[in-house]
Amino acid sequence: MDQNQNKGPNNEGPKNKQSLLILLICIMVVLVCVNMLTRMTGGASNEIPYSDFIEMLENGEVESVVIQSSSLEITPRVQHSMGIQSTFYTVPTEDGNEVTKRLEAAGVDFKEEKPDIMGQLLYGLLSIVVPVIIMVGFLSFLFRRMNKGGGMMGGVGKSRAKAYVQKETGITFKDVAGQDEAKESLQEVVDFLHNPGKYTAIGAKLPKGALLVGPPGTGKTLLAKAVAGEAHVPFFSLSGSDFVEMFVGVGASRVRDLFEEAKKNAPCIIFIDEVDAIGKTRDTRYGGNDEREQTLNQLLAEMDGFDTSKGLLILAATNRPEVLDPALLRPGRFDRRVIVDRPDLKGRISILKVHAQNVSLDETVDLEGIALATSGAVGSDLANMINEAAILAVKNGRKAVSQKDLLEAVEVVLVGKEKKDRILSAEERRIVSYHEVGHALVSALQKDSEPVQKITIVPRTMGALGYVMHVPEEEKYLNTRKELEAMLVGYLGGRAAEEIVFDTVTTGAANDIEQATKVARAMITQYGMSDRFGLMGLAETQSQYLDGRAMLNCGDSTATEIDHEVMKLLKKSYDEAKRLLSENREILDKIADFLIQKETITGKEFMKIFREAKGIQEPEAKQRVEAKERPQIALEEPAAEQSLNCTK
Ligand code: ADP
Repeated sequence: MDQNQNKGPNNEGPKNKQSLLILLICIMVVLVCVNMLTRMTGGASNEIPYSDFIEMLENGEVESVVIQSSSLEITPRVQHSMGIQSTFYTVPTEDGNEVTKRLEAAGVDFKEEKPDIMGQLLYGLLSIVVPVIIMVGFLSFLFRRMNKGGGMMGGVGKSRAKAYVQKETGITFKDVAGQDEAKESLQEVVDFLHNPGKYTAIGAKLPKGALLVGPPGTGKTLLAKAVAGEAHVPFFSLSGSDFVEMFVGVGASRVRDLFEEAKKNAPCIIFIDEVDAIGKTRDTRYGGNDEREQTLNQLLAEMDGFDTSKGLLILAATNRPEVLDPALLRPGRFDRRVIVDRPDLKGRISILKVHAQNVSLDETVDLEGIALATSGAVGSDLANMINEAAILAVKNGRKAVSQKDLLEAVEVVLVGKEKKDRILSAEERRIVSYHEVGHALVSALQKDSEPVQKITIVPRTMGALGYVMHVPEEEKYLNTRKELEAMLVGYLGGRAAEEIVFDTVTTGAANDIEQATKVARAMITQYGMSDRFGLMGLAETQSQYLDGRAMLNCGDSTATEIDHEVMKLLKKSYDEAKRLLSENREILDKIADFLIQKETITGKEFMKIFREAKGIQEPEAKQRVEAKERPQIALEEPAAEQSLNCTK
């Protein structure tokens, strides 16, 4: 079904072998040449001064002499001690006749050797021709590689970007759960691709592109594939970073190649993932880059240039729309913006259902409960959780996934696996236990905080030594000031318990402090919840779809004041946490002891002890209703991402 086509250096293996072979041949040719040269320059002969030769003659030490054109080859009478035949040569400083006379006088055998013209010619020829052949061979090899578009020169000029082409994606809108608004916008696009004539007939221009915007893992790629699948057109996908290389101009030519290829296959969809890698705004605020700008210019030019009536549509995905160049977003280019945000409760339920389709579930499973417990999770997290649960079921030798597996999988994805081999000392276990109960108790004592679902002191692989899981009663889109203040007190409850019980503090509260500071800062700078600054907006969210970090937008002196306000708010919350725990020290001790024994306790067990100690009646009526609705699990509330307290 799929025709995957990789352009560029796809046969790296044979190419490497080829270059190795050429290198070996070069080395061999050089070795042969060196060998020939040494042979032609006289091999093992040693040169001696002519005066030494005359002395040898006079002493009768010369056996024979070969007279060559410009030198004499001398064979001495006394040979080398190891029996190796050695000869000497010398260049006579006198006339040839004189030399002959001297040899005759000494009674030495001598003969004249005719000069080897052929040998000399061959030598001269080889010493020029061989290096030239090597050079030419090497250069042609280099050119061939450059033309093929790969290897050493990085394929300058040719698209070697990995365009992933699927003739039929086989994915439809049914496979994308939730995201109803996004699907609705894209449904029109599918219709454009199906019946372009319908729109052009009344003079409507077809859209050129749509930008899918949202956090990672929300299903942007999946949606783009579904559009191609619904319209039954080929799907060309490429990542923005594939275009950008070291060489200026490469990205631009890749854009050209991609569009050429796509035009040949129209109607089709080009999908550019992470388009911010090339589409970053060209102003210098985010750092300029010649290559990227040229690539972007080419993309803009191509988007202007193609004829939409052929049915070519560009979809791009990004999680940083704020950095994109305005030229890319103007009508006529990516004129549609489709938001693919984190799924809400309903969306999460349907995503879980889609992924649970092919997994055997037992009768205990309540996907709604899991969706409630995973507020903030994106589609890829949920898909991962279902898979983890299936793996857990297999590991435990069961044939179907149970609710317990799913809940465990939620925790595995959020805080990592249980680290059973990490043995904490008795004292550390006590500290962790008090710390976690501190969080939970403070939450239970405050009216506006979320109920506790589980407390554990089993360490997890992502670094938590223990944690409290909160699950809100219902999906929330707004937080009141009181709730945020209660959240701050809750975050600092762990540290407060440590100080009250052990009269010392540990490093375990680092994560709590980080989270509390983030919330406090946002309250003051973004939510207008400080009496000091009132409604003045002091920070702007930078990357809404990534970490949602805020950048201060105020003067230096105000920034200092903000810090003081944050400190004041945190101190107030910490004092409140300490007050609440000191006043309820008995309950704190009781639950902490229970937790040390059991390692993990449920929200129900926690509340039972709490209510007993406080003399509060169990809300039986409510419990019965809940039990009827969801008989299998004791899920009181879901664990919002931010409401999961971990001590690290
Ligand atoms: P993105 O492109 O937004 O980063 P992907 O489309 O690559 O995210 O999603 C990754 C995976 O997560 C998908 O392959 C799919 O299994 C799952 N997924 C994400 N969102 C959804 C959804 N709405 N419905 C079904 N599955 C989803």
